[in-house]
Amino acid sequence: MAATPDFQQTLAKSAGFSGTSLHTGEKVSLKLQPAPADHGIKFKRKDLADEPTIDAKIDNLKTVERATTIGEGAVRVHTVEHVLAALTGMGVDNAIIEMDANEPPIGDGSAKPYVDLINRAGLTMQETPRKSFEVREPMHIETKSGSMLVLLPDKNFRISCTQAGPNNRFSQYMSIEVTPAMFEKEIASARTFVYYEDVEALMGKNLIKGGSLENAIVIRDNSVLSKEPMRFEDEFVRHKILDIIGDLSLIGQRIRGHLIAVKPGHGANAELARAIAKEQKRRDAMAIPRPLPPGQGGLSAEDILSILPHRYPFLMVDRIIGFEGDTKCIGLKTVTMNEPFFPGHFPGHPVMPGVLQVEAMAQVASILLFKLSKSTNRIGYFMSADDVKFRKPVFPGDTIYIHAELTKNRGDRLAKAKCHCVVNDAVVSEGELMFTFLDR
Ligand SMILES: [Zn+2]
Repeated sequence: MAATPDFQQTLAKSAGFSGTSLHTGEKVSLKLQPAPADHGIKFKRKDLADEPTIDAKIDNLKTVERATTIGEGAVRVHTVEHVLAALTGMGVDNAIIEMDANEPPIGDGSAKPYVDLINRAGLTMQETPRKSFEVREPMHIETKSGSMLVLLPDKNFRISCTQAGPNNRFSQYMSIEVTPAMFEKEIASARTFVYYEDVEALMGKNLIKGGSLENAIVIRDNSVLSKEPMRFEDEFVRHKILDIIGDLSLIGQRIRGHLIAVKPGHGANAELARAIAKEQKRRDAMAIPRPLPPGQGGLSAEDILSILPHRYPFLMVDRIIGFEGDTKCIGLKTVTMNEPFFPGHFPGHPVMPGVLQVEAMAQVASILLFKLSKSTNRIGYFMSADDVKFRKPVFPGDTIYIHAELTKNRGDRLAKAKCHCVVNDAVVSEGELMFTFLDR
């Protein structure tokens, strides 16, 4: 049975509110704005010149001390986890979070103010299916501070969390399937908590300047200090789940898996997010390309001969399967027993030389460059090959998918491309190539 298609969502309109930021204690206004499909979630600093944006992606993670900080260049946004948890928890895939300071308002220390904001804005479905990360093999993170996260296959996103304070005070356990309805009802209003013994240290580090008993629960020995009574008997473990949802949203897709978390924290959550992103990258690299729509179609052997000066036996690409935008393309090379290099490399044990795979990458990358510059009057010369790795041998009968992605293209004179070759769902070789161009 096919799963029902799950489509991306954004906000129906914008909505905002103002408050105090937790760590800096400054006043801040925040506004959630709708965004197009595949945009993801981005922060926008309205208070800075040119209003820079920061992608809420794990690659931009900077620090995880007490709260999660992301940044690009010199621009930072602190304590992103509660607003991100609210957006992800409520099913928002695409949004711009505009702020006029470097940290969102802390509100009441939970994600509830953001959920209210999202409800006020309303949701609208977009036409693009959602991307999700399906857990296929168990993943496991353990940190020195005693956090343990185990991610298991599951068709839904579930979190089973055990929270325990120093000396196992306030040990709590909760298992929940994360859906918008459950998030809103059971998780969103759980507030931040802090141990009394940590408060002084945090203040010493100039953190939690905006902290008060109105936006955090303080645990002192066996008692709980807060302005308002506990919202749930097990409010702490619920807040831990809230933080996990926020931190893991940095992978930029939904998770289909069951997370078992013991004493989680921002550090461990971020480590898991990195591991998921890395696994996703590995899967993307191995993905067999789908036929591309017209206009982005491939090139035949004949087309290639009209572009590349290379000829048999040094032409290392049979076909271009397709282009993806202006910066990516995938070529194909079928390796036969009749290749001229096999008799000598090696007699009785034919293996394709790794340097010829690098040559194949270079040829595919050149085709990409020629397509961009729309000129074949010049010829690309190899300047360097960095981070070249040969991971697996290539044998007669193998089909190599040669992936090339332009990472730099400076004034038609210098270009850099990240490339890798895939055989049977495994990366067999990779490298970063640099070219210069000379007239023919
Ligand atoms: Zn939190």
